[in-house]
Amino acid sequence: MCFIMVGCKYIADIYPVQFVKTAHPLSVGLVIVGTAFFLSVEMFLIVPMIFDTGGVLYKLAWLVAIFIVYNLLGNMLACYRTDSSVASLPRDRQIPDPEEEHLWHHCDYCQMLVPPRSWHCRLCNCCILRRDHHCIFTATCIGHNNYRYFFWFTVYLTIGTLLALATHALLFIVNEEMRRHYMLYYITHAFILSGPIKFDLMSVWINLILVFNIYAFTFPLVMMAYQIPTLYLNTTFYTPRDFRYNKGLRENFKIFMGSRGIWTFISPTIKSSLIHDGTQWETKQPNVTIC
Ligand SMILES: [Zn+2]
Ligand SMILES: [Zn+2]
Repeated sequence: MCFIMVGCKYIADIYPVQFVKTAHPLSVGLVIVGTAFFLSVEMFLIVPMIFDTGGVLYKLAWLVAIFIVYNLLGNMLACYRTDSSVASLPRDRQIPDPEEEHLWHHCDYCQMLVPPRSWHCRLCNCCILRRDHHCIFTATCIGHNNYRYFFWFTVYLTIGTLLALATHALLFIVNEEMRRHYMLYYITHAFILSGPIKFDLMSVWINLILVFNIYAFTFPLVMMAYQIPTLYLNTTFYTPRDFRYNKGLRENFKIFMGSRGIWTFISPTIKSSLIHDGTQWETKQPNVTIC
């Protein structure tokens, strides 16, 4: 995973314009096509083999699936549409107050003073407030204003792909006929289970879908694993050891998610105003290690 990220960063640094033109549509397309694929496979193929299609559990599964897809794509869109650049600030806040000026730093690319924790992104070609990283899956930089949407986007990607994996496990347990199509059955058959092995076109499909599912689960899980310490310690992807801004989990959560905090989990349309505009950051300690 790190190898892919370092490789992407290397290409993006040399050919930023070409990288954006190629990586953004491919990555966004992958998320949209992947979501449509897993939703169709789960709800029209796998879940009907577990629950009665006229029953309450099947209807409940549809509700859960719609809720997850709505939040996944809704947060992805909101993340893309929410501008975290320094230029998104009101004109009078794009210039530091005299007493804050010593905290701001100069950006050689933008040729202007920018607030603390703002960094220039070569792909967006602007400075981003409390810049975390540039995300190719939402085709934008993740910063102070859109972090909330990015965080829930990764959470819903992880939950969605985890539940898809859970349906495979459930199908394996409850459906004796389908169980015989899984490679897992094929592998364990000789040791534990008994009965004839079925390996046909359905077996190829179901095992391929399972392998895709494992890959689709691993990636957002790693993305989320990076975000949990960021949220917990109020750091960023590129400054994981800069603990100066940490105000405790509860306060950090409010800084990142806004006044509604955890309730932003329910929908990207929930209004949750941020407690400041991303220019004023209280610090605790002077020492910092930037990686
Ligand atoms: Zn800049
Ligand atoms: Zn960017």
